[in-house]
Amino acid sequence: MLNKYDLIVGLEIHAELSTNSKIYCSCKNEFGLEVNSVCCPICTGMPGTLPTLNKKVVEYAVKMGLATNCKINQISKQDRKNYFYPDLPKAYQISQSDIPLCEDGYLDILLEDGKTKRIGITRIHIEEDAGKLLKTDKFDGTLIDFNRCGVPLIEIVSEPDIRSVEEAKAYLETIKSYLKYLNISDAKMQEGSIRCDVNVSVKPTSQKNLGTRCEMKNVNTFSGAIKAIEFEYQRQIDILESGGTINQETRKWDEKLSKTIAIRSKENAQDYRYFPEPDLKNIFVDNDTIERISNDIPEMPNHKTIRYINDFNLPQNDAKLIANNIQRATLFEKTYELNKKLDTKSIANWILTTISEQVNKTSKNHLEIITPENLNKIISYIQSGSISTSSGKKIFKQIVANNSKSIDQLITDLGLEQISNTDELEDIVLKVLKENEKSINDYKNGKTNAFGYLVGQCIKATKGKGNPSIIKESLKKHI
Ligand SMILES: [Zn+2]
Repeated sequence: MLNKYDLIVGLEIHAELSTNSKIYCSCKNEFGLEVNSVCCPICTGMPGTLPTLNKKVVEYAVKMGLATNCKINQISKQDRKNYFYPDLPKAYQISQSDIPLCEDGYLDILLEDGKTKRIGITRIHIEEDAGKLLKTDKFDGTLIDFNRCGVPLIEIVSEPDIRSVEEAKAYLETIKSYLKYLNISDAKMQEGSIRCDVNVSVKPTSQKNLGTRCEMKNVNTFSGAIKAIEFEYQRQIDILESGGTINQETRKWDEKLSKTIAIRSKENAQDYRYFPEPDLKNIFVDNDTIERISNDIPEMPNHKTIRYINDFNLPQNDAKLIANNIQRATLFEKTYELNKKLDTKSIANWILTTISEQVNKTSKNHLEIITPENLNKIISYIQSGSISTSSGKKIFKQIVANNSKSIDQLITDLGLEQISNTDELEDIVLKVLKENEKSINDYKNGKTNAFGYLVGQCIKATKGKGNPSIIKESLKKHI
């Protein structure tokens, strides 16, 4: 039964862009302000007002388009999408219908088995967001907050190339990391900056044509999107198994009930009566603009991940965790550049454990916690045996506590220099062995613990400063 049906998923992601002002007026584009405090006659759709397109919105959308290998339509147009809903006072949304800004791109997602899969991007277009309906116990009706009206959005539409829950998850995460890397959206799901429409269909594996799809509108968490896909897959299979047919419809994901619910039969494009927006000119993007934006696009996180795995031998999970966060990635790469003999796995461990713990405790990012220069010094000294790992952590604590002394000064002041002089340590080892004949015999009789005890005694004799690996070698030589 499990493999009898294929799952086919396409995702439409709406991302709010983090421009300073809204898409068609000069109202501030900021989340969390007092209800109805950032709106004007333009974004509340008063008669007689005229929209003016914010150029930044076009640039941000083109940036996402170029990063996802889209073709940029140098001339595109804006259209009215007519529908009536109280959160949209104009009774139409300005969007892009037949000629979007970007189309025909792709994105490579990295799967858990280390393989990549290419997901087609059908199009990316710009549009305006609608207001927000609010419910309150104090009032029977519905209240409207217009602050979100006119907040710029891009809609990223994928091809129905997603074939599993794992691929859907990887695709959503990759899109989110792109938005953040390009610095065009804060991508905060909890503030509704990313929402998605999930299209799901199933078909018997042997069948060529795709099945009828159902669309779940406005799912506002990734986990909700994943659960909706899992639920829909099973629901549609159950219908087909019992001889029924799937109706094309719009459904919604109900988080509380953990199921999808039909809300209406699917509207077709003609239901929206699209027509060219008469108040706005065509959008023209010239070659220079495309070139300038394209020069501004960094290496994207999915490509970084693959490079970290191949060039630095990092485990996939570490590589992904570092690459997905631009500060972590910068700290990692800059630290390595300062000393290419550093063990990359050690840098990764420091970033993902000790430094990340500190990031979680404060509101600082990785680069604000420690500079690449200091991290390089700590790891280099540990690697060369000048200090122990625990001393490295002591120094790190001092840096976090804003101690402005240099690392070398801290090592001297805290008395952390490790004894790595072989002759000096050998003398101590011989002395310890002389005093612990019983332990030597125990060790020779197979009690491996006895060796640890001897190492401990030697380190104690050096007041904790003896280099453990040299001590161990010397012990093995003399027992
Ligand atoms: Zn406004």
